[in-house]
Amino acid sequence: MHNTLIDSTKAVFQSVFRSEPEHIFLAPGRINIIGEHVDYNDGWVLPAAIDKYICFAVKRQQDSETCTFFAADLGESFSFNISEKQSPVGQMWVNYLLGVFDAIQDCGRKTGGLQIAFSSIIPMGSGLSSSAALECGFAYILNTLFDLQLSKKEIALVGQKAEHTFAGVQCGIMDQFASVFGKKNKVMMLDCSSLEHHYYNAQLDGYSWVLFDSCVKHTHLTSGYNDRRKDIELGKEMIRLRYPEIVNFRQVTEEILTELKDDMGDLAYRRCLYVVKEIKRVEEAVRALSENNPECLGRLMTETHAGLSQEYEVSCNEIDFLVEEALKEQSVLGARMMGGGFGGCSINLVKEDQADRISKVIKEKYRKAFGIDMNVYKINISEGIKEYKDNESII
Ligand code: ADP
Ligand code: MG
Repeated sequence: MHNTLIDSTKAVFQSVFRSEPEHIFLAPGRINIIGEHVDYNDGWVLPAAIDKYICFAVKRQQDSETCTFFAADLGESFSFNISEKQSPVGQMWVNYLLGVFDAIQDCGRKTGGLQIAFSSIIPMGSGLSSSAALECGFAYILNTLFDLQLSKKEIALVGQKAEHTFAGVQCGIMDQFASVFGKKNKVMMLDCSSLEHHYYNAQLDGYSWVLFDSCVKHTHLTSGYNDRRKDIELGKEMIRLRYPEIVNFRQVTEEILTELKDDMGDLAYRRCLYVVKEIKRVEEAVRALSENNPECLGRLMTETHAGLSQEYEVSCNEIDFLVEEALKEQSVLGARMMGGGFGGCSINLVKEDQADRISKVIKEKYRKAFGIDMNVYKINISEGIKEYKDNESII
């Protein structure tokens, strides 16, 4: 499948630019195994890059000041002059790229002209971070071809800045980090505040990661997110008043929350309870991975879903259905909603030899219940962004 993606992207480049691309780059999407809604609550996340990529076919234009993109999946192109100051435009996908260019100029780096054709097998807007792959992929290309001497961390930060400033999405740093720093068969435990991260083995023999894309996206994602942040702030305020020495959620226990429940009110209590429990679950998940214990990891994922659904309340009927139905299958060790919520994908840890059968069963049930044809993605954990050299294995 990946060679098909590479060949078709090359072919698009040839037909659009009437010459051969000189470089091929692959930028992956990502999953997050556990650690949901704790990136902004002092917790860790556990993401990994996956074998779904945006493929870029690229050629430097030595004496040109023009950068031209062709987005093959949309059939749209865009050109800009690299000596001019950029500002956001009407085509959304262009903003991720212009934002990267602008952030790199802000770092005082100079580049030359380029021709780029790109196409992707990361579904757009399904929570697998096609946006981070797009922006960080471009930052990586500029860094490599113009020897900009940016570190990997700077590439991730440039991607995030592009998303904040040009795309208008106030995202965290997890997606960019996973796309840039991913390693084959490893997950990273990332502290989104300090950016400290450690890798853990995620090769679970006999098990597969399977994503069920609900193909729904409810519109209250932004308001839901803002409300959760307010609830959490209220809870934190109560904790600070009683325990001034506590500076972050890692120090908070369930006992403390029980004690403060009446002061905070039920809503803030449940939001904080979710956070405190999820922070613990991520620590336990890392232990489960270190001990090669997929059953325990699966259990933790399922507990996360219950918390997201009942305590943090960011799930929705469609995703709850997918999780519940998956868990009726013995070969599913764990299932949960992945991402911000109110739609998107569920992530499932499934016995490999049962994955196809179970996917088929759930697909059918989902169609019957909601009239929607869901998508299924079987994924492997793979390398972060890199230049692809001919004949190399890419996962
Ligand atoms: P996610 O990152 O979860 O996939 P986002 O809404 O953050 O969802 O980003 C999706 C956006 O990224 C798309 O609407 C589009 O603007 C851009 N994008 C992603 N992949 C591509 C692609 N292959 N071609 C053009 N634009 C893309
Ligand atoms: Mg995104």
